[in-house]
Amino acid sequence: MKFHEMNETEVEQALNSNSTAGLTDDDVKKRRKQFGYNELEEGEKQSAVLLFFSQFKDFMVLVLLAATLISGLLGEYIDAVAIIAIVIINGLLGFFQERKAEKSLAALKELSAPQVSVLRNREWVKVLSKEAVVGDIIKFSSGDRIGADVRIIESNSLEVEESALTGESLPVSKTTGSIKTANPGIGDMENMAFMGTLVTRGSGVGLVVAIGMKTAMGQIADLLQKAESMTTPLQRRLEQLGKILITVALLLTILVVAVGVLQGHDLYTMFLAGVSLAVAAIPEGLPAIVTVALSLGVQRMIKQKAIVRKLPAVETLGCASVICSDKTGTMTQNKMTVTHLWSGGDVWTVDGVGYEPQGKFYQAGKQIQVKSEKPLQQLLMFGMLCNHAEIKQKNKEFIIDGDPTEGALLVAAMKAGYNRNTLLGQYQIIKEFPFDSSRKMMSIVVKDHNGKQFIVTKGAPDVLASVSGSVLWEGRRQFMSRDVTAKIQDAIEGLASQALRTIAIGYKEIPAKTVILHEDEAEKDLIFIGLQGMIDPPRPEVKGAVKECRDAGIKTVMITGDHVITAKAIATQLGILTKNSKVLDGKALSEMDVQELEEVVEDVSVFARVSPEHKLKIVKALQNKGHIVAMTGDGVNDAPAIKAADIGVAMGITGTDVAKEASALILLDDNFATIKAAIKEGRNIYENIRKFVRYLLASNVGEILVMLFAMLLGYPLPLVPIQILWVNLVTDGLPAMALGLDQPEDDVMKRKPRNPREGVFARGLGWKVISRGFLIGVVTLIAFIIVYNENPDELEYAQTIAFSTLVIAQLIHVFDCRSEKSVFARNPFGNKFLVWAVLSSLLLLFVVIYYPPLQPIFHTVPVKANDWFMIAGLAAVPTFLLAGSFLARKRK
Ligand code: ATP
Repeated sequence: MKFHEMNETEVEQALNSNSTAGLTDDDVKKRRKQFGYNELEEGEKQSAVLLFFSQFKDFMVLVLLAATLISGLLGEYIDAVAIIAIVIINGLLGFFQERKAEKSLAALKELSAPQVSVLRNREWVKVLSKEAVVGDIIKFSSGDRIGADVRIIESNSLEVEESALTGESLPVSKTTGSIKTANPGIGDMENMAFMGTLVTRGSGVGLVVAIGMKTAMGQIADLLQKAESMTTPLQRRLEQLGKILITVALLLTILVVAVGVLQGHDLYTMFLAGVSLAVAAIPEGLPAIVTVALSLGVQRMIKQKAIVRKLPAVETLGCASVICSDKTGTMTQNKMTVTHLWSGGDVWTVDGVGYEPQGKFYQAGKQIQVKSEKPLQQLLMFGMLCNHAEIKQKNKEFIIDGDPTEGALLVAAMKAGYNRNTLLGQYQIIKEFPFDSSRKMMSIVVKDHNGKQFIVTKGAPDVLASVSGSVLWEGRRQFMSRDVTAKIQDAIEGLASQALRTIAIGYKEIPAKTVILHEDEAEKDLIFIGLQGMIDPPRPEVKGAVKECRDAGIKTVMITGDHVITAKAIATQLGILTKNSKVLDGKALSEMDVQELEEVVEDVSVFARVSPEHKLKIVKALQNKGHIVAMTGDGVNDAPAIKAADIGVAMGITGTDVAKEASALILLDDNFATIKAAIKEGRNIYENIRKFVRYLLASNVGEILVMLFAMLLGYPLPLVPIQILWVNLVTDGLPAMALGLDQPEDDVMKRKPRNPREGVFARGLGWKVISRGFLIGVVTLIAFIIVYNENPDELEYAQTIAFSTLVIAQLIHVFDCRSEKSVFARNPFGNKFLVWAVLSSLLLLFVVIYYPPLQPIFHTVPVKANDWFMIAGLAAVPTFLLAGSFLARKRK
């Protein structure tokens, strides 16, 4: 028999499982040994050897290798071996960089790997999906992706969208019970749910019947191996720029060679020099360094609890001009405690700390016994019954497993002595209509021991009031008159204005044996019992983060399902709602189209009582106004807005799989302040990339120009090929990487967001590259000419001087690249990686010049002590000549 044909007990027996206790650790181990991990096999990866050889596929590198080979054949062994060694070291460097980039991207994927809730050793625990085994009992609810193929053994209004397997995008209802149809298709197996499909509504429990490649998804896994593009706009722009730079560098190199030959230099020497120059000047390694810088930045973000799922987001973060954030749990602590209760005009308060179920009830300041207050009892009891949360004790601390709002209701009832298990003995829950953020209510159908049936509903008070026909007032049922409605409204606003989150409770009796299939039937003509108001304190760090964002030109907008007045109170406390900004509620929002919203959207700081569907409209309106929008979310219905936003942000703790999959950024701690930290890091990463692009290109310009000018002026080659290659490897390599690790400048969060359309050379970078590069070339040439003219017979000495001047000019200039403003704007020793990189490059320079065995290889001659003064003086010019204006401005 197949699993869908069996009933629940038969499946359990067939798989030797236990739906009340789950598997034991031993079972799991055995089964894993037998069937392996619950993973889909991935496509072929590029092997290390191939990756290594791919470093040499660059055209100019091949030409250089060929040229070197020829020079080797012509007897220039030392040159040939040295050049090949340098090319190989360069290749290795590229190889390790790409490896690192690849590894950190893989690690990222691992971090956001999906999890499942499984029953093991009688407890529900969360494990990575890949750890689920056949026979495991797993539970899932709205927003989850199902982690394996399961036979459903429990369903609460469960609906699943199976388009990945069936192509059908409408969700299908899932039930238990066996199916007898012969050979049903996947879409017809109502008692099965499949790996990778999506729970769109309700919740359920299933018994795992297949994992990994044995699942329905596994069988079509090959079709799913499509990788998402992970290159960022800047990387693409740099790639395009790279192509232009290659052409320019090649043309200039050809020019150098042509002029050199015309000036009477030997063709072969000029050719080798030209090829070396081309290899050095073409920034072929740039994309790899950019990837490394991005992925290192991404790792720094992880330390701050932000996971970047899509690399391009790192860049977009720096452009964000509006953050739209949920309130509950993101700006507030999501640690709710009921403090006020209201029914029929009476108000009670309750004390106690956190989730500890200890507290007393008071009315008008006097302690009361709950037993003597009937409506209070109903309020508490029904709040406990229509509830999914559980209270657990961990290291003496009480914690909530489930929704904190429900946890608060549970704790309030426990304070009055209620026990959920006892209640469940009196009332049997027959059906549940789960909470969703659009309806803002949750209902259950219960039966008491006399066979009477009730609907119990809890939800947002204004919504619940609107579906109530009567109200309990002083122990009696009263018609919802205009007067009573106004009083309820006052009560709601009274609690909300104290920043309390409010939940209303209602109920109604229905004829015994009535079967209610749809929530619309259940949630009408209710009897309104009363309200519970709970505090949810703001997270202490949010206020500062909001201010920091404002200084950085980023507006914070609160988007919440909560009541307008509660939202207003908290937004004011956090500095989000100011004198000039407005509040808009879901109702008004529904009545506007995107164009109408556009007209006001920039003035609104709080959207309250909104449904997740509204979020998309808000994103669109802001984007139409030219904003780069970050939008947070956690539920299934948030996914479209998260996807549409420039930076979709999902919650790590409360977020559903769907929200996470749609997002570019996941907040591991669900905290608003983490978005700010990620934005700061995003800005810094971009600036660091600009820093080393600037450094590398200016260095390349210097290298080409010194050769070109020397040829034009009729001098011999100021640098020999091996020296050029050495500069490319040592001076350009290490310090550039260190720039990628630089700290942010102090004012990084004081600047306006970057324009996403700005080019690589924006904000003066192009001028800085050309002017500094030109000066580096000129001072190197001057050093060469001075020494050469003194003694034209000692060409190698003059070349060593040029080589040293070029290296040192670059090593000084690298400090200038740390700041957008000037070399004087920052402490030069602030980046210790850079200091070490520069010291190592210097040391290597001295080794090449002063260590006799290397002198013939690098064509160097020991530099006389006196000449170092000239070298240092000239090398300082490119950096300090143009920094003067900054000092002048500062003095003013
Ligand atoms: P945010 O969007 O900032 O997270 P929120 O959590 O208040 O705000 P929703 O979860 O959509 O947004 O809740 C909207 C309203 O629905 C709440 O103000 C509350 O009155 C009610 N509500 C919340 N959770 C439940 C629940 N589990 N059962 C019944 N009603 C609920």
